[in-house]
Amino acid sequence: MGDDRDTELADTLAEAGRRVGQAMTDALERIQPVFDAIAEVANRPEVRAVIERAERAMRCRLCLCFCLRAHPADRGICEMLDAVITGRYSSDLLGDADVPLCAPCAAARAAHEFAR
Ligand SMILES: [Zn+2]
Ligand SMILES: [Zn+2]
Repeated sequence: MGDDRDTELADTLAEAGRRVGQAMTDALERIQPVFDAIAEVANRPEVRAVIERAERAMRCRLCLCFCLRAHPADRGICEMLDAVITGRYSSDLLGDADVPLCAPCAAARAAHEFAR
């Protein structure tokens, strides 16, 4: 007698599990095209470019070059949001400090330094 009820319970659980599993599969199948669409869009070159630019902007470092003083001759070259190297900034006020610099600024500083 008790056995019957256990079997029934087991069946019910198995059935419930099967339905949940089916529902999950259905749901996944239903959103799969959405994922595919996103993946497809994300792989398009123009979208990739936007994403890459956004990623770069998110981890961007500000160039703290003080262009006017460091390389007055090449003022317009600074890529302000694209600091890639750490340079040394010497000032009377702060002493020597490490500052992020963008590539063109670093080059201009080196040239300026060299010309001196
Ligand atoms: Zn600069
Ligand atoms: Zn710069």
